[in-house]
Amino acid sequence: MTESVYQEVIKKLITAKIASPRLEARLLIAAAAGVDADTVNNETRLAQSATAVLKQMIEERLNHKPLDKIIGHKAFYKYDFIVNENVLSPRPDTEILVEAAANLIKNNNFTSVLDLGVGSGCVLLSLLKDFPHLYGTGVDKSNAALDVARQNQVALEIPQERIQFVSADWFDDNIVNLIGAPFDMVVSNPPYIPSSDIELLDIEVKDFDPQSALDGGHDGMDSYRRIAAICQKLLANDGFFLAECGIFQAADIIKIFTDNGLAHHQTITDLSGIERCIIFRKKDCN
Ligand code: GLN
Repeated sequence: MTESVYQEVIKKLITAKIASPRLEARLLIAAAAGVDADTVNNETRLAQSATAVLKQMIEERLNHKPLDKIIGHKAFYKYDFIVNENVLSPRPDTEILVEAAANLIKNNNFTSVLDLGVGSGCVLLSLLKDFPHLYGTGVDKSNAALDVARQNQVALEIPQERIQFVSADWFDDNIVNLIGAPFDMVVSNPPYIPSSDIELLDIEVKDFDPQSALDGGHDGMDSYRRIAAICQKLLANDGFFLAECGIFQAADIIKIFTDNGLAHHQTITDLSGIERCIIFRKKDCN
């Protein structure tokens, strides 16, 4: 008996040292065949056209193209998001920020949130999906990324009235007026990799995530400095700012934001013990 397609793909992925060969094999076969991943097993047979698509997909994967960018979607937090080469792939680490933001929204009855660098929309749309009374604004300088965020908004059935997308760069002088502040909460996963470290990243990241979503300037801090400078204007009194950060950056980021008048509220570590999400609060000025 000939080997099943499923086993054949698993073997190829193992040889290429792909970390989750069984899961990835099921997702690739499902995408090629147009079926649900949980139906793929040793009995799965493919039509000729699907076999050709699968071959192409495996070749891309063996060339280190990330799985989600091959199959066009990725599970994040509670939902599935459309992705392509124009957005940063949603990362499990960022789910920490979403969870922290969701708790604050719930406990404070917040009604508005701004996402700086909305990308695929995985952070902002997860929050809007969980809280039907919440209004969101998503800013990105990449129109191609905003297109993906809009597709995800439609796929997740979030009403148009509850979200606005703004095509803008936070380094622009008039950014605050463009966005329409203040907000109860501001969230951001800005580019934070020091420019000279980018070439050291995995091929999956450096060749397939947009450079503009990774490159944080010489020390990785350019966006934090800029956001800290405008944060008081973006936030309502007692509002929270939540940022994802890179390894060893937390202390510097805390200094940048407290120097700009925000109070450090909490730092949350990811599953590897790395300080990954920092929360600040705008002190009531009354
Ligand atoms: N977390 C990404 C990485 O692992 C970086 C994302 C970012 O710069 N915001 O490389």
